[in-house]
Amino acid sequence: MKKASIVSIGNELLNGQTVDTNTTYLSGQLLTIGVPVVSSYTIGDDMDAIVRAFNLASNDANIVIATGGLGPTDDDLTRQGFANFLGTELELQNELLDKIQNFFAKRNLQMSERNKIQAYIPAGARPLANPLGTAPGIMAEAEDKLIVALPGVPSEMKQMFAESVLPELQRFAGTQAVVVRKLRCFGTGESNIAELLGSLMQRGRNPLINCTVEYGVITLHIIATAEDKNKARQMAEKKEKSLRNTLGELVYGTGEQTLAEVVGEKLARQKMTIAVAESCTGGTLAKLLTDIPGASRYFTHGWVTYSNTAKTTELGVPADLIEKYGAVSEQVAQAMACGARKKARTDFAIGITGIAGPAGATEQKPIGLVYITVDSDDGCNTKHCLFPHDRQFIRLRAAQTALNMLRLELNI
Ligand code: ATP
Ligand code: MG
Repeated sequence: MKKASIVSIGNELLNGQTVDTNTTYLSGQLLTIGVPVVSSYTIGDDMDAIVRAFNLASNDANIVIATGGLGPTDDDLTRQGFANFLGTELELQNELLDKIQNFFAKRNLQMSERNKIQAYIPAGARPLANPLGTAPGIMAEAEDKLIVALPGVPSEMKQMFAESVLPELQRFAGTQAVVVRKLRCFGTGESNIAELLGSLMQRGRNPLINCTVEYGVITLHIIATAEDKNKARQMAEKKEKSLRNTLGELVYGTGEQTLAEVVGEKLARQKMTIAVAESCTGGTLAKLLTDIPGASRYFTHGWVTYSNTAKTTELGVPADLIEKYGAVSEQVAQAMACGARKKARTDFAIGITGIAGPAGATEQKPIGLVYITVDSDDGCNTKHCLFPHDRQFIRLRAAQTALNMLRLELNI
């Protein structure tokens, strides 16, 4: 089976100036032709480091793709590093020199002597055309390995990859397919999911299960590798079924689906409506719900009642209730939800009140304390949450938790 390793070259990638988007792009592209990326190396413009990274990468994988350092300046060392790695010399390619000279002539520009270096490539390798710039790519096949160097500029890299590298890779990798399916979960922690799945998440399995977490959403990536696409798809589907069986209601969707999308679909299908009354989330929940096109089918009202007065005048939360229990309390979350539902005349209403910090905490009411109520004909369902991290995390997590509570009510 063919595997790939990616080498990103450039000081700018190490000093916080440039985010390495090339690796992300290439990893995604390689997966589409069934080649998994098993490692990636990021190194500066340094000859020893380049040769070392090429060696490491070619030990890890049969396909090595490097980007960056092909320009004409002194810090662009990939060409020479590639030759050193292959154990060959750089050779002038007259055809390449003509192309580079033409590139400048066409634009009425003077070609500097420096650009001549770009007409040199390691002996035994072949150049890859660069329609967007002067730096050609380089490709070499050595001992069953395919080694490629592409320019660092993302637009040049992408065009060269699509036109010159992808077809070669398809030939090189033959029929091999990887299918990735994503299962989105919400409502428990990553470690609990790992415990529930037990040996299903063991390394080295096929399909492999990877887990990522973002604002409480846990994504399980099911990665199946097989000789052809159909077989890989069947394997992934079978694994998805067994994960769903184990995780039950924790799974809310697949692919790129968000909680708001899934909740919106359910509301629309069941012809139900929703209104929200928010305090600490400041409209985040309303934004998540209305980010979805077609939200007007189910979303009617959103209130941001930040002050006590607003809670009382807008939602009818009794002032003495706030006085007695405090604005951040189960009682006030319920009164906000009930008040909102009464005013909006919706099937559901959500009330959220909490302490997002960094100020405003007391001993009894710490930062991250949030009460969320979903009110419906079935009565009030209130959750008492304590979220970690900072203000931004607490607010988004609270809004997501509210959506999840609504999702579970809509499942019944
Ligand atoms: P040239 O010097 O002719 O522009 P090059 O192949 O030498 O091409 P670099 O000098 O390494 O490329 O990079 C050019 C620019 O491309 C960098 O300044 C950076 O903005 C961008 N770049 C390089 N590598 C990456 C990467 N891995 N991800 C995203 N952007 C990158
Ligand atoms: Mg560079």
